[in-house]
Amino acid sequence: PTTFDYTWDTPAYKGTTSFNTGLYIGGKFVDGSNKTTIDVINPTNGTLITKVAEGVDADVDIAVAAAQKAFDESWGLKASGAKRAELLGNLGRLMDKYKEELSAIEALDNGKTFGWAYAVDVTFSTDTIKYFAGWADKITGQTIETSQDKFAYTRHEPIGVVGQIIPWNFPLLMWAWKVGPALATGNCIVLKPSEFTPLTAIRMCGLIEEAGFPPGVVNIVTGYGNTVGAAISSHMKIEKVAFTGSTLVGRKIMEAAAKSNLKNVTLELGGKSPNIIFDDADLEQAVNWSAHGIFWNHGQACCAGSRIFVQAGIYDEFLKRFTEKAQKIRVGDPFGKDIDQGPQVSELQYDRIMSYIDSGRQEGATVHTGGTRVGTEGYFISPTIFTDVKPDMKIVREEIFGPVGVIIKFTDEEDVIRQANDTVYGLAAAVFSQDINRAIETAHKLQAGTAWVNCVNHLQAPIPFGGYKQSGIGRELGEYALHSYTNVKAVHINLGHKM
Ligand code: NAD
Repeated sequence: PTTFDYTWDTPAYKGTTSFNTGLYIGGKFVDGSNKTTIDVINPTNGTLITKVAEGVDADVDIAVAAAQKAFDESWGLKASGAKRAELLGNLGRLMDKYKEELSAIEALDNGKTFGWAYAVDVTFSTDTIKYFAGWADKITGQTIETSQDKFAYTRHEPIGVVGQIIPWNFPLLMWAWKVGPALATGNCIVLKPSEFTPLTAIRMCGLIEEAGFPPGVVNIVTGYGNTVGAAISSHMKIEKVAFTGSTLVGRKIMEAAAKSNLKNVTLELGGKSPNIIFDDADLEQAVNWSAHGIFWNHGQACCAGSRIFVQAGIYDEFLKRFTEKAQKIRVGDPFGKDIDQGPQVSELQYDRIMSYIDSGRQEGATVHTGGTRVGTEGYFISPTIFTDVKPDMKIVREEIFGPVGVIIKFTDEEDVIRQANDTVYGLAAAVFSQDINRAIETAHKLQAGTAWVNCVNHLQAPIPFGGYKQSGIGRELGEYALHSYTNVKAVHINLGHKM
């Protein structure tokens, strides 16, 4: 395996890092079985950042064996809750210590701004690990009394070796959402990061080691979806797979699970989240949050508030202010001073988003602002708003996963809820109103796993997150996440019932 050396230089921070880019299996960095590599591209200018090892099916087998060994010998039921809490706590503190370095790697690899990577991605990832550290020694079952001569209790046992497949939009954060609850409950992990953004997951291997986790508890196999991802989801010795990514691939994961060993599946998939702004909303706040809702992370957020419904009485004023806000977003080098938005993650995503913008134009919608490439190199797109949209347009129905929102005028309350729910997705929704009854009533009627009142994209480690409908199965974060990583065993104790 080779080493990646990198120096960052932002207005506020300067530093260097150097780490191995091999697969991380059984506590060691190794080459992939085929000795091939994957090019990691810098989305800011399209140049090569580094090469990382390309894993293949055989490497997944090796990683599963290493994880099983660790599970049997030093983790699983062998490590106490207190031990797991201690090591996860160590990991959280190390993430604080290396915060700047992790932020720089994330910004370089993904294209998000250094400032956001620092303030949100790394901070929230660290919070998540610390949160699950707190759960590690509080995994308890129930005692169930049925009659005088019998009682039963439940144990929440770790599943064993779990597979985790994550996307490129929040590489470290998705890593933390997956790894935190799995380790807290005593599982061992084979994780595949996205081939577009593998670097923070690889760097974290060093922190895992420094935190004191036994070798094999966390294994990282970098590689492509149709090889390593498919091998994980169809592996006979992986009893659970957790996936975050597109609905298209989510289907493949479930199919592979069904065709192999019926492994337990949790899915966090796409969205087309509605954001409803009633005419009694605090307009300034609604504008600020709505812009954050769609433009944060360059629109590459599964819960992005991409369909903005605005009530007729405030529509013109909202549109005016929202447009000004969108036009003020400073697009440029993620390491530059005062930059709000970097490039989209890859050429592929850039092309995909631009083709959605073209389709919106062709179907008769108006590009109210944006809709263009920014600069001549890298994958930058100006914050884009469409108006004059119709419910059946592709830009209204499909997830664009870019800085492209549609604004829709409405008058009637029941009708906007019907429109908001008219989607195959159900990840998140938001409502803005200063009337508490109206806001709560609307939140309850929206078919989504998360309903925000007077905010958007506001997530925290103790609060569960996941989708209704085709946005997913199961919940991440919060106590709910623990259920996905344990098997419940019921133990029956006979106190005297004779046969
Ligand atoms: P993707 O589905 O293309 O890829 C996600 C991961 O799956 C990657 O690691 C990829 O290599 C892997 N993969 C691809 N094909 C596979 C296969 N056949 N078998 C197994 N694994 C395979 O998604 P993406 O483009 O990386 O991410 C964007 C999508 O992720 C969006 O649709 C977005 O909404 C969704 N997302 C959802 C959440 C959430 O929490 N619900 C969070 C982030 C992203």
